[in-house]
Amino acid sequence: CGICGVVGHRPATPIVFEGLRRLEYRGYDSAGIATLDDGRIERRRAAGKLDNLAAVLEDQPLYGTTGIGHTRWATHGAPTVNNAHPHSTSRVAIVHNGIIENFETLRKELEAAGEVFETETDSETIARLADFHLAAGKSPREAAFATLRRLEGAYAIAMIFAGHEGLMIGARRGAPLAVGFGDGEMFLGSDSLALAPLTRRIAYLDDGDRVIITPEKAEFFDHTGKPVERTIQTTAAIA
Ligand code: GLU
Repeated sequence: CGICGVVGHRPATPIVFEGLRRLEYRGYDSAGIATLDDGRIERRRAAGKLDNLAAVLEDQPLYGTTGIGHTRWATHGAPTVNNAHPHSTSRVAIVHNGIIENFETLRKELEAAGEVFETETDSETIARLADFHLAAGKSPREAAFATLRRLEGAYAIAMIFAGHEGLMIGARRGAPLAVGFGDGEMFLGSDSLALAPLTRRIAYLDDGDRVIITPEKAEFFDHTGKPVERTIQTTAAIA
């Protein structure tokens, strides 16, 4: 339902959490955040209100300057902690808005290849497919693009990769996603409200686009993987 992500130099968790707060108006049943802590993927999730996630984070803080967060509106799998996003393996963590229509086919293929699923969601197939490619030695970019080529349905996705601080890959098809340009930090958000207090410089992904963001820049690609330029718009100042 809602996505917020940051790659930068400040602690990611408070930035992502506040982004999720601004997305609350869309409705949700659970929420979670994943960061890279010393290159390792760490995550916290909670069913119900963001206050529940805040309590978990208070108890078990989440460190790191690269992070993604999600508010979930369940479509496949009950609204439990276990089904909440981010979905992760030791190599990759993802958040997803939308529906992966061919998840059952992908899940069967991946299970046959030895991937072990932990949730009932369509979204987990994205993490397991990326994990499969990473385990085979592909780079994060190769693994992400190979994963996206297999996905059918509607999605906005953000991914982070173990051992790759300052890297995030996003994609959109049939669900919105925007990049926010900061000073030595960059953001991803499923709508401009998620990004509003963080930056006034925003570029929307076109349908089918992927984006690779680092603290310094964003590289856009169309659905064929061809590099493209996307215009940075300056939004009105927030009072
Ligand atoms: N289909 C996914 C799920 O049920 C994502 C739902 C959403 O957009 O929040 O987990």
